[in-house]
Parts: sequence; C-alpha cells; structure tokens
Amino acid sequence: MSAINRRTFLKWGACSSLLFLLSGYGYAYFFLQNGADHEFDYEAMFFVKKEEGKVQCRLCHHKCVIHDGQISRCKVRKASSGVLYTSVYARPAAVVVEPVEKEPQYHFLPGSNALCIGTSGCNFTCKNCHNWQLSQQGLADLERYHHYSPQEIVDLAHERQVPTISFTYNEPTVFYEYMLDISRLAKAEGLKTMLHTNGFIHSDPLEHLLPYLDTVTIDLKAFTEDFYHRISGGSLSPVLDTLLKVSQAGLWLEIVNLLIPGLNDDYASIQKMCNWIRTELGEHIPLHFSRFSPAYQLRNLSPTPLATMENAYSFAKKEGLLFVTLGNTPGHKYNSTFCPACGGTLIERHHITVKNINIEKGNCRFCHNPIPGIWSTTAI
Ligand code: SF4
Repeated sequence: MSAINRRTFLKWGACSSLLFLLSGYGYAYFFLQNGADHEFDYEAMFFVKKEEGKVQCRLCHHKCVIHDGQISRCKVRKASSGVLYTSVYARPAAVVVEPVEKEPQYHFLPGSNALCIGTSGCNFTCKNCHNWQLSQQGLADLERYHHYSPQEIVDLAHERQVPTISFTYNEPTVFYEYMLDISRLAKAEGLKTMLHTNGFIHSDPLEHLLPYLDTVTIDLKAFTEDFYHRISGGSLSPVLDTLLKVSQAGLWLEIVNLLIPGLNDDYASIQKMCNWIRTELGEHIPLHFSRFSPAYQLRNLSPTPLATMENAYSFAKKEGLLFVTLGNTPGHKYNSTFCPACGGTLIERHHITVKNINIEKGNCRFCHNPIPGIWSTTAI
C-alpha cells in the first residue's frame, strides 16, 4: 500500500465515518485496498454492439448508447472497441454486517444480520441521496475499495455467521455481474440473498437474476413521473413493472416510500400509491414510510413532519394495506408490526432494533393468524 498523504488520509477518514454511520454497529470491513487499479477490465453482460465501436447497455431502462472510449452515466461502465466493460466487478466499496431491518426488511428473519455489499456508481441521481459519496462517483474517485471475489464474499458471510448477503447502498444494477455471481454461489452454499433496488433494472437481467434471490426491497420513490424525472433522474413506469415481476416470481417483497416535504407527500398520490399496491401486489406487502432528513442537494428542506408520517400511515391502513410501518422515527409506536387480525404486537421494534418477536412458526402468538414472510432460514 502506498504512503498516505494528508488528502488521502482525510478522504479515508470521511469515507470510514460514512460507512461507520451506514453500519450502525461499526462492524465494518472496507477500504482495504489502495485505489491505484481502477481499470474497466471485466466484460459486462446485457449489451449490444452498435456501429463505430459504440455499444448499447441494456441493464437498465436508460438503455445508454455509449461511444467508444466513453464512460457510462452510472460511472462504472465503459465502451471499448465494441465491448462494454465494468470497473466494479469484485471491487466493493462497502462490505458491512448490518441488521436486515436496516434495508428495511421487516418480514424476513427479524433480528438477524446480513453481509451488506455496495460499490460506487448509480443509474439514478437522487437529489436527496444519503450515500452520494458512493453512488455519484466512479471507482477511480473513491481511492479506497476492497478486492473480494464472489467466493471470498460468500466465505466472509460464513465466517461472520450471517445467513444472508444483501446488495445495497448504491444501486446494485450497476454491479450486476458481481451480484449475479455472488448470488449463484451463495444459493449453492445455503445462504439467502437480498436485493435493495430502485427497481429501474431492465426486465431481461431482472428475470435472469430472480432465481438466485430470496427477498427484495424496492424504493418506490413517489407515485408521479414528474418526481422521478425532476428528483431522481429516472421514471416511475419501469419501477412498477419491476414490482409486478418480483411479486409474480413469488419472491418476498417489501416497499419503501421516503416522504419528502413538498415533493411527494401530497395525500392524493399517497392514496393512489397505496391503492395500486393493494390491487396489483396484494394487501400483505409491507409498506415502510421513511422520514426524510436533509441530505446532499436537498439540505435546504426540513425533515418530514411527524403529522405527515402519521397521516400517510392512516391513509395506507384505510386503503387496506395490512403491514404499514414508519421508519427514521426512533421510538415511534409504528416502528413495530401489529397483527391485522387481533392487533397484538407481532414484532416490537425501536427504530431498527428488534425488542420482541411474537410470531411462532409463521403465526401470531396471540390469535394464531398466519403472518406472511420468511421467518426461518429453512423457509423458501
Ligand atoms: S446500467 Fe448504467 S450504462 Fe447501463 S443503461 Fe443503466 S445507466 Fe446506462
């Protein structure tokens, strides 16, 4: 490893602080390697050759046409002589053990930990991104990242005795090849796999990946195309398609909706979103309303008022959704999950810490109502 100059030291410290915060538990393994090697050296999947050395990437709905020698909008893919390469295969920027509740996943092995992996790069440009130091940078900008092969990630999960590997932090679509290889190995070795995504992945790579996943969290950022265009640099319609495909494939699915004051918190669109979730996906899909806190390019906004969060909760329940929770509101009653049949507290949480579980063999301990989810490592 090369000598560390002052700039590098400060950057290292900033990155480490970020990941310490991300980890919640400070249980982290990251930035081990010097960033000298950041070549685009691993051939990508899902691209087609075009004329004059150009390629079209078909991993996500941007369907970028990339000129010879150019780097993609997600910053981790590059065209070279008619071939698309990725820079982040086996080069995670964050490898952290965290509670599954952080994703959030509330009906999946509650109280367990996952080995969470992210790289640099993203196909969205969310103005409120909390992980922008990873998501809005290419590998070369980071200076520090790991070198972990897919097998080494799986071995690390075994070593740390976590039942699950989670793809998260930045958008996992941009490290698709790495995620796919880890998932294949993980499934073969009895581990579970979790994807936290913005849902903008194209249908072909999604269908190719789904057999190797157990559970998915999708950020449904808003229920208007306008929000997606102006705030996230994406669009809503493909995200809805992904929600339908994941649900139809029979994977466990949970949805997060971050409520940002004045941007996506109008009650008409919240009601419309909840109605769509119930009618198209089912009343059993957990919906997490998450409270906005100022970050990145939206530091000028205030945190979401608690009254807005509680009203959204009421609307969702009135629309017939059975499992609604509030996130980023530590200590709030609705951090917990309640039985839709008897009202008993199924899983008591303080923020993302599980205090008590009243689910036995997939049923409510009080009234024996079946509760959908994945409650044991032997469940499919
Ligand atoms: S994954 Fe990246 S390169 Fe591929 S289409 Fe999406 S933004 Fe473009």
